[in-house]
Amino acid sequence: MQLLDGTAVSAHIKAQLKTEVDILKVNGGKIPHLAAILVGNNPASEAYVGSKVRTCEELGFGSTLLRFEPSITEELLLIEVDKLNSDASIDGILVQLPLPKHIEENAIINAIDPLKDVDGFHPISQGKMMLGQPTFLPATPYGMMMMLEHYGIDVTGKHCVIIGRSNIVGTPMTILMSRNTNPGNATVTLAHSKTKNLKELTLQADVIVAAIGRPRFVTADMVKEGAIVLDVGINRIDDATRKSGSRLVGDVDFDQVAEKCSFITPVPKGVGPMTICGLMKNTLLAAKGKKALSN
Ligand code: NDP
Repeated sequence: MQLLDGTAVSAHIKAQLKTEVDILKVNGGKIPHLAAILVGNNPASEAYVGSKVRTCEELGFGSTLLRFEPSITEELLLIEVDKLNSDASIDGILVQLPLPKHIEENAIINAIDPLKDVDGFHPISQGKMMLGQPTFLPATPYGMMMMLEHYGIDVTGKHCVIIGRSNIVGTPMTILMSRNTNPGNATVTLAHSKTKNLKELTLQADVIVAAIGRPRFVTADMVKEGAIVLDVGINRIDDATRKSGSRLVGDVDFDQVAEKCSFITPVPKGVGPMTICGLMKNTLLAAKGKKALSN
């Protein structure tokens, strides 16, 4: 079994991005600038935004963190998004999800200028991705594709079972894995909570992508020998042995499943750091007035 080390791969990609920023600085080019919107003080969201802002600093990007009270109205948040849309110094806009229930997430995402949609969630970005046109790819699936590419893992003709059909992870991953590209050309099955024969499907899978949000849901009896497993899940569980009283686990029962795999991502330090790389790559491309190639 080989561990797919998100920390190591992301360090490699971040070094490349930093070099590009250094060159931009020398040549007087536009330095990428990411604006992040954080509504409320959900600890997980705070942590995710914090690490995105820190990565901007590490790479020499500019960053602006806009914090709002959870009581902010949808109308006022739309005005804030619009201000960022028309601010020429801002290249990328990130709205940390989830938003409070009284705010319609789609309304906010749809309001982001697609040219600044570095999370790749806007309908125009998603539509272009589906059609194979250059666009900003959603950061987590983009990060996983970079991970496969980095390790030279060829998924051509392989059966990939993706569990979870969210708009930000599972569904776009089915598109990216099935395209006529490298990595890509996999035969994809998309499973969700209504799937009746999940174990039957996963036992046929050469590649499993778990994006469910349920701790250690994918167990060893669901995985065939030699499978490649990408674990997107981030779940906090109680752990009395830790000072904090809790720890993070993925959607895959790592200790048991790892023994059967050819490749597996750990949680943490697997897909998570790759997601940040996807976001940073998109932000650099936005500053250069380009789009991530969807092929
Ligand atoms: P969502 O909650 O939006 O989607 C979960 C999906 O899992 C749904 O499609 C749901 O099916 C499916 N599902 C739930 N229960 C089952 C079941 N018993 N059998 C099969 N499918 C099931 O989650 P996200 O995609 O946003 O996130 C998934 C996980 O990944 C979470 O832990 C999240 O924290 C993590 N995450 C990690 C990221 C990273 O960078 N590492 C980035 C984004 C998310 P249905 O549609 O039928 O309800």
